[in-house]
Amino acid sequence: MLQREIMRSQTGSGSDTHSASDSDPGPVLGPASGPGSEPGSEPDSTAMRRALGLAERSARNGDVPVGAVVIYEGEIVGEGLNRRDADADPFAHAEVVAMREAAERLGTWNLQECTLVVTMEPCPMCAGAVVMAHVGRIVFGAWDAKLGACGSVWDIPRDPHVGFVPEVVGGVMEEECSAVLRAFFEQKRGRDAGSAPEPAR
Ligand SMILES: [Zn+2]
Repeated sequence: MLQREIMRSQTGSGSDTHSASDSDPGPVLGPASGPGSEPGSEPDSTAMRRALGLAERSARNGDVPVGAVVIYEGEIVGEGLNRRDADADPFAHAEVVAMREAAERLGTWNLQECTLVVTMEPCPMCAGAVVMAHVGRIVFGAWDAKLGACGSVWDIPRDPHVGFVPEVVGGVMEEECSAVLRAFFEQKRGRDAGSAPEPAR
């Protein structure tokens, strides 16, 4: 399991390095982890717990469990859960839903002063949306080795072609966030392996 941190402008002095795996530290991405690096702060964890609650609601709807919140001045101004299947909307990823709500609430598309906290590493679409909304800080939980676009497969926020560079912190409450996804897919595999097909809705 990849466990890395990408820190951009974190100046904290904490020394919590979380349980980075010795066997697979993952590639080093950019001017990262100095001694000040830490996998998110306490407010990040609080927001992540809220995002996890939203992710669990996604799962109840039959969607891959991903939840996201947008924080502005310490307050949640946007919330989203993955509703792709529930709404038959290919773009209804948790991050997009949360950013849209935040922009509407703040009355501006520019979310530079905001932090997006999401349970899974954003995909290319969401990472692109983050850049377009100028979100100042991205915090995510589980790494996504298949489709992650904030350091795993791509690194869109820090692409040199993109003028705007947000701070990116990955692996915050990684274990909890991964567990929700794992449970969902295990349950789905169990259902798919069962003899009775799911009733079509
Ligand atoms: Zn996405």
